[in-house]
Formats: sequence, C-alpha cells, structure tokens
Amino acid sequence: MKPALIVHGGAWQIPAEAADACREGCRHALEIGWRILSRGGSAEDAAEAAIVVLEDDPVFDAGTGSHLNRDGGVELDAILMNGATLKSGAIASVQKIRNPIQVARRVLDSSEHSMFVGAGAEKFAEEIGVKLCDPEDLIVARERSAWELCREGKHVSEHHDHQGGTVGAVAVDVHGHLVAGTSTGGTCCKRAGRVGDSPLVGCGCYADEEAGGASCTGWGEAIMRIVMAKAAVDMLRAPDASAQLVADACIRLLARRAHGTGGLILLDRNGDAGAAFNTSNMAWGVIKPDGSVFVTI
Ligand code: ASP
Repeated sequence: MKPALIVHGGAWQIPAEAADACREGCRHALEIGWRILSRGGSAEDAAEAAIVVLEDDPVFDAGTGSHLNRDGGVELDAILMNGATLKSGAIASVQKIRNPIQVARRVLDSSEHSMFVGAGAEKFAEEIGVKLCDPEDLIVARERSAWELCREGKHVSEHHDHQGGTVGAVAVDVHGHLVAGTSTGGTCCKRAGRVGDSPLVGCGCYADEEAGGASCTGWGEAIMRIVMAKAAVDMLRAPDASAQLVADACIRLLARRAHGTGGLILLDRNGDAGAAFNTSNMAWGVIKPDGSVFVTI
C-alpha cells in the first residue's frame, strides 16, 4: 500500500510574523516522517518522529515553547494510538519531559497501562531511561513574557503571540497500518492540573485502521464534549465516506453542539486526507499522492 502522512501545528489565530515558521515546522515534520514511511518504516515511527520535530520547534505549543499555566510552569500532554490494536499510550500534566510523545510511545509499546499523569508519568519515563529535563528548559521568552503580562493584569489574548499550536500527526505505512498522535502544552494560563482533550483517547486522538485516524486541536473543553476524534473515525466507517467531508462535518458538530472552535486532521484507511477548522487558521500539511509536500496555514 502507498503510505500517507498528515500533520498539524494547531488551530489558532496565527500572527503574520509566525506564519513562515509554522509552515516551515510542518514541512520539516512531514519530511522527517516521510523519510521513514517511504523506506518502508512503521506508522508508529513516522508519527512519533514527525511529532518530535514539532515538539522541538518553539513556534508550537508542545514540548519546547509550550504555554505556561497560571502558576508559571509548563504542563504537557501527549498520546499515540495504534489503529491495529486500538491500544493508546498517553501521559498528561508532565513538567520535566522534553518530548512527551516519545514517552507516550513507550506507554503504548511497553506498559500494561494506557495513561500516566504527573509525577507517576515522570517516574515511568525515568524507569525506561528517559532523562528528565529542567522544566525551565521548555520555557521560551515569548511565553514567559505573555505570562507576566497576564499575571500583572488579567489573562487576555493580546498578551500572547499565539493562543494555540498543539501538534499532531496521522500516518499510514506500506502495510496499511495506521497510527495517530497528538502533543500539547495545553491552553495558556490554564489552572495547574488542567488536562484538555489532547491526551484523551477519542477526544484529541483516535485511530482504528478499519476506518481511519484523527488528531484534533482547539478548545479542549468543547472537543471533549463531542469526543471529536472518535466521532470523526466513526463517520469514516460509512462505505461512501469522504475524508474531507467527514472533517467538515466534525467542525460543524463542534460548533453546533459544543459552541467550540478548533480543527482536526485525518486520514482514512486508504490514506486519503481531510482537514478542517473554524479558527482563523490551522497550520497543517500532507504528503500528496505524488510524494510532494503540501503545507498551508
Ligand atoms: N486542545 C488543546 C487543549 O485544550 C489546545 C489546542 O489545541 O490549542 O489543551
């Protein structure tokens, strides 16, 4: 089967000065993921590698560059889901893990459990040989100054260069194996301990290779109400479903039933892609059937 890969860097209002960096970040993630898929590598490896690129890119709200919570710290969430077994691996509310998606992958592959939070997730990471980082290493000047402005006054979006930037990927490999993943620093100035949709199976991510896989972004509390990633995959089960029409339908559902804003990317089981959002922008990109890279915001 021909492999396929789609990535996103969040649904938000992307300021003009961040547009090139967002496009470049998505392009780089696609290139790294595609290098793996085009050589016959696994969907897990490709989705994880693409998300690591996005986590390491400070323009996005995941890994390095994440939003700060009300207490001035980062709290990161990530999930990777295997569309063959329906098993997912997730971590939430971690502060000392540079690449949460790598630990989510290890939860998926080698734990009897599906999700760890906070100190327990960091303990698991250490046990599998991941070196914990200083939480300060993940904080960039842009986010520190936004937090300071919010602390002095009240939390307002103008203080933030951006309000979004969650990242995600869905990959299908040459064997037709499908994997989806999502990683985020969550919403800016969230209360400590708040977890959104991103690491929750069915909400921020879902994969079932009998139908397809999805990664979501946007206002987590609304996405959770409609369990959006699972809703998308279930819509893909219809014999005549079109990936793009399903993406559009999910965003209509998000607006109508949860009065929410956000976006999602998806691949159906044949590798056909769909993407939709009702925010001003969503940074996303896909490898087209001819192997060329398409990126847009
Ligand atoms: N969905 C993420 C959350 O609520 C944020 C985002 O995608 O912008 O944590």
